[in-house]
This record gives sequence, C-alpha cells and structure tokens, in this order.
Amino acid sequence: MREVVIAANWKMHTTPGDAGDLARTIASRTNESGVTRVICPPFVCLAPVRDALAADGHEVAVGAQNVHHELAGAYTGEVAAPMLAGLATWVIVGHSERRRDAGETDALVARKAALAIDAGLRPILCVGEQLADREAGRATDVVETQVRGSLDAIDAVGATHGGLVIAYEPVWAIGTGRNATSLDAAAMVDAIRTTLDAMGWGSAASRVPILYGGSVTSANIGEFLAEPTIDGALVGGASLKPDEMAGIVGRAGITARARGLAG
Ligand code: PEP
Repeated sequence: MREVVIAANWKMHTTPGDAGDLARTIASRTNESGVTRVICPPFVCLAPVRDALAADGHEVAVGAQNVHHELAGAYTGEVAAPMLAGLATWVIVGHSERRRDAGETDALVARKAALAIDAGLRPILCVGEQLADREAGRATDVVETQVRGSLDAIDAVGATHGGLVIAYEPVWAIGTGRNATSLDAAAMVDAIRTTLDAMGWGSAASRVPILYGGSVTSANIGEFLAEPTIDGALVGGASLKPDEMAGIVGRAGITARARGLAG
C-alpha cells in the first residue's frame, strides 16, 4: 500500500524565533499513526524546526522548499543538496512559484531531483498546469511533459530508493482558495501514473505516492482522500494554522487506517 503523506509548505513565512514553536504545536496536534508528516519551513528556520521537533520526540520530518541544481560553486545565495545534510530529510523541487519566479525549467528541476536523491533527501516533485492550459484542454499534455522532463535524470530504481513523491498542483489552485475537483485531480493522478508507466517505470509507476496540492483545507481534504489514487496533500496556506493541520492530518489518518498503514 502506498504511503499517505501530508507535507506543509510554509513558503516565506515564520522566523527562526517562532518557527520551532509553530512546528511543535502542529506536531503535537497531528500525531496520526500511518501518516507521514513533513514540515518545510524557510531555509533559515530548518535548524530551529528540527531542534524543536527533536526536543519533544516528534516523528515529523523536516524538508527544505528548494535546492540548487549544482553541487557547489559561484551561486550567490543558493543552497546545495549536500549542505542540507542534518537539517532536512525532504525537499520540494519544481514548485510552481519557483518555476514562475526563478524561471526553473523541467531540465533544471530534473537536476535538482537527482542531486536531492544523491544527497539522501526525499524529493517532492511539483507539477501542474496553468489555468489557460486547462481551459484549452491541454492540461494533461502539459503535466505529462513536466513529468517526463522533470524526471529525466532519475530512473525507476532511483525514484524508489530515493523515496520520490510527486505533487500534482494545478497552478490556478495554489493560494487562490479555488481547489480542483477531486475527480479532476484523480484523473490527473491517473495520467501521471500512465506517463510513468510509459516511461518504463514498471511497478514503480504504481508505487510512487502522488499528492494533490492547491487550496487544501480541513474542509476539502476528505474529497481528495476519498479518491483511492490520491495519497495525501501538499498544503500551503492552511499549513500555518494548527487547527487546519489537525483537521487535515486527522482525515489522512482515516485513509491510513483504511489502507492498513496505521500501527
Ligand atoms: C503550495 O504552496 O504548494 C500550495 C498548494 O499552497 P496553497 O495550499 O496555499 O494553495
């Protein structure tokens, strides 16, 4: 059975002074057996969040929100995958806000994902179409191209050993309060698995967890997790609110129990 994952993307929120307390509060309110929890704070908050979670013995993983596509060099302000050792065990790659603001291409994202795995970090690869793509009926083609391009440097064995997770995040649903329908999200998740299969990933195509992301809240998470092919959520805005996270992870716990993952 595929893992159930709820990952929190705190984006450019929190400070080293308050991130640890928020992480601890969320961790203590989301202790659901069988659900993999990941908190991705800003780089400067990784150590405080790691320390706060460890101090209370919480089994919540820490993730970075980005990593550079080179191992070292003259890249002012950037962070390479090996530098995250000891700070994080997961990393988001190819988030649409980075594709938009930093011009990240599928080719760059592919390098990030491969370097993350080499460094022992579990990548959460984000893909998703723009509103114009969906309205023009080309959403599936766009996402298929992103999946192929962003996984160009990883094969099925590497993805499995590296613990790859994919997040389908329609760009028009991120931070807008307008989520995709669960049927549309499930159809895209199926299309992603079909793409992985066509890439020759064999059984790994059905084993990779695929999350939905885009205005997920405690009120709508149930619709997504009612779809057997959706394995969790990447949560932005709501992930900063402990009440919301308690509801979201609580619902994920129901799915984990139904899948026989709860201990
Ligand atoms: C995200 O940041 O990946 C995201 C899905 O944000 P939000 O939940 O706020 O739409």
